[in-house]
Amino acid sequence: MNVIEVNKLSVQYRGVEALSRISFDVEEGDYIGIVGPNGSGKTTLIKALLGLIPYEGKILFQGKSLEQFTHSKKHIGYLPQKMSFIDEMFPAKAIEIVASGVYCCKKFPKRLTGEDYKAALKAMDILGIKNLKDRPVGKLSGGQQQRVLLSRALIHQPDVLILDEPTVALDPQARDTFYATIEELNKENKTTILFVSHDIGSAGNFVSKLLYLDRKIVFFGTLDDFCKSPQMSDYFGHDQHLICHRH
Ligand code: ADP
Repeated sequence: MNVIEVNKLSVQYRGVEALSRISFDVEEGDYIGIVGPNGSGKTTLIKALLGLIPYEGKILFQGKSLEQFTHSKKHIGYLPQKMSFIDEMFPAKAIEIVASGVYCCKKFPKRLTGEDYKAALKAMDILGIKNLKDRPVGKLSGGQQQRVLLSRALIHQPDVLILDEPTVALDPQARDTFYATIEELNKENKTTILFVSHDIGSAGNFVSKLLYLDRKIVFFGTLDDFCKSPQMSDYFGHDQHLICHRH
């Protein structure tokens, strides 16, 4: 079953095309690595999927518009690069940040309930950070903050999780733990994952499919097909080896 269908999607910024008629389908349980050079349209694609910018073409979630999809209690979790807006003095506890993940889907007046805090604690438990619940979020390490944000994205048990270069601010060890957590979510909960990555070498360790963008789709398919393809070898050269080194 297709969770997402993208059909002839184009995005322009002041007349300049950032994405040009791209089409692809995402199946349930896919773990897709979205890669490509700087400025190739990766973030633009994510913004279009999240309904944040105008576009031409069609984007459907299980055959529905984003609005209908979320209306039918389906959820898309989104995790940005890092909490760059949070300094050390930011006056919020970790659990408050996690619980705020429910605001999106509440009717007015938007108030957090005891149930919301219970859900927040459960999401933190999944990521092994329940013990951090009362800590000021600005005092946590980069890896811990990223787990707080991931818990926030998971509070609704999303069907689709979109991550935009979420490991940029992490040290290598925190990065590995983070990748392992995402992999587990994909394998055990069958969460469909779209993972934008600069680091195509790391992405190749986990993803099941690769979407290589350069304003258009250069390659979309399974990692096995990518690694076997001589055309891709011509196009990517050493990069193909980097992506495929575990295969
Ligand atoms: P990536 O995430 O792959 O680095 P982006 O989607 O951020 O690429 O950008 C794709 C292209 O669109 C780039 O040429 C970028 O300069 C341009 N672009 C992105 N956002 C804007 C914007 N808000 N206004 C004008 N141009 C933009």
